[in-house]
Amino acid sequence: MENYDLIVIGTGSAMNYINPIIDSNPEIKIAVIDKDEPGGICLTKGCIPSKILLYPAELIRELGTASLFGIKAEIRDIDFNAIMERVRRITRENIEAVRQGITGSPNIDYYHESAEFTSPYTLKVSNKTLYSKMIFLCTGSKPAIPPVEGLEAAGYLTSDTVLQLNECPRSLAILGGSFIAAEYGHFFSAMGAEVTVIGRNPLFLPQEEPEISKLARMKMSEYMKILTNYEAIEVRKEDHRQKTIVVKEKNLGEEVKITVDEILVATGRVPNTDILHPERAEIKTDGQGWILVNEYLETSQPNIWAFGDATGKHLLKHVGNYESRIVYLDAIMKEKVKTDYHAVPHAVFSYPEIAGVGMGEKEAVEKYGEDGVSIGLKFFEDTAKGTALEIKDYFVKVILNAEGKQILGAHIIGPHASVLIHQIIPLMYTESRSMEQITRIMDIHPSLSEVVTQAFYSRLSPEHYHHFMKRRGLED
Ligand SMILES: Cc1cc2nc3c(=O)[nH]c(=O)nc-3n(C[C@H](O)[C@H](O)[C@H](O)COP(=O)(O)OP(=O)(O)OC[C@H]3O[C@@H](n4cnc5c(N)ncnc54)[C@H](O)[C@@H]3O)c2cc1C
Repeated sequence: MENYDLIVIGTGSAMNYINPIIDSNPEIKIAVIDKDEPGGICLTKGCIPSKILLYPAELIRELGTASLFGIKAEIRDIDFNAIMERVRRITRENIEAVRQGITGSPNIDYYHESAEFTSPYTLKVSNKTLYSKMIFLCTGSKPAIPPVEGLEAAGYLTSDTVLQLNECPRSLAILGGSFIAAEYGHFFSAMGAEVTVIGRNPLFLPQEEPEISKLARMKMSEYMKILTNYEAIEVRKEDHRQKTIVVKEKNLGEEVKITVDEILVATGRVPNTDILHPERAEIKTDGQGWILVNEYLETSQPNIWAFGDATGKHLLKHVGNYESRIVYLDAIMKEKVKTDYHAVPHAVFSYPEIAGVGMGEKEAVEKYGEDGVSIGLKFFEDTAKGTALEIKDYFVKVILNAEGKQILGAHIIGPHASVLIHQIIPLMYTESRSMEQITRIMDIHPSLSEVVTQAFYSRLSPEHYHHFMKRRGLED
């Protein structure tokens, strides 16, 4: 049996505080275990590679707007293989850097293997038994594969395997209507594929504000087909390596057949605990296998902590990063810091871009009542920079309490939404969460920042806001 002071499973967010942990105890002996390449999903198959791919897609879409400005531009060729080779090269380099960091430390034994619990505090890794009184479970998640008849036999891609493509499929069906579908739909359509997104939910991007979801669908339908409220019921193999997906509208029962070169499954994520067997360590999970933790990220077994995707709460890298700090402070520095999720931001790097932080309107109204909420709104096109960009319909929505002082949430659809939202995030982390500072500052003129600031100048009741959005054709 190998004894350690700390065992860490997962080399994603779990690696953030490895050096400070070693600095705080230079004698510490740590086992780091990961069955996959080091770096975690974000670096190897998730956020980073997907965003590397999305930049050329954005360039293509931007070039497509050139004629609006009197410029005749033409894209002669897209070297899909070069785009894919670039992402693979950068990913290999990133993985290598993480590997060197882990293997270069005398404090760390690195196991590139699967780990499973055999009893509390004891893990089997290959033919070895590892024991530690402190364990960090940062085991992430993996693609969920829906039980659609014929899907396995026909074959499909997931976000794990899509990066291996060398040739752009001529046609692609994406099962799932959330952010991975929106981002890869944007990428493949810009590369020239005919893309059909098939979502089960009545709304495209259902986690967004309904009017943002509607506008995103309207804009993205210009370059891909989006079906919502459709269930995939069967996949059949055709000649010439094509596949037909049979989908059924969930209310009317109408069946549609879609024949494509490739299928990308993006129907959500499931935990990795089927391999880990936390139950053997008396670590509780929920019905789906996500690891249960308290507000300090402690599992039901003392001194075993879980964070990142493994808890199934917020499947975002920056949440994993934030939580790794909480675990470092509580487990190593022996502080007692609670997690706080009142202002979790997110972005969808589609075209248009979408970003949000904190509560949506529905949640705010449920919590404070219709009279307890007011809404600030500004359209990009009503600012000088928005006019310069020739953009239409995009907007910033801020959700405030009734007095209009405290920010409850904010949502943006439009260019640079993922950057603009950062004008609001820091305000939501002040004690008062007050919007006052933003109305006192000077914005550079003309900049898109003015859209965000000026959204705080209006105060609409939810009723007035929806009336206005209906008049603009952005709501039914
Ligand atoms: C296509 C895609 C795009 C994304 N884009 C974004 C984005 O733009 N922004 C964002 O914030 N988030 C994004 N995400 C989500 C983000 O990637 C995850 O939230 C994040 O990587 C989770 O990190 P983690 O540290 O919790 O786990 P991971 O990084 O997943 O690390 C877990 C590691 O543990 C290993 N492991 C699990 N169980 C065991 C075991 N029993 N034994 C050994 N090893 C094990 C796994 O193989 C894995 O390598 C995206 C995800 C995908 C799939």
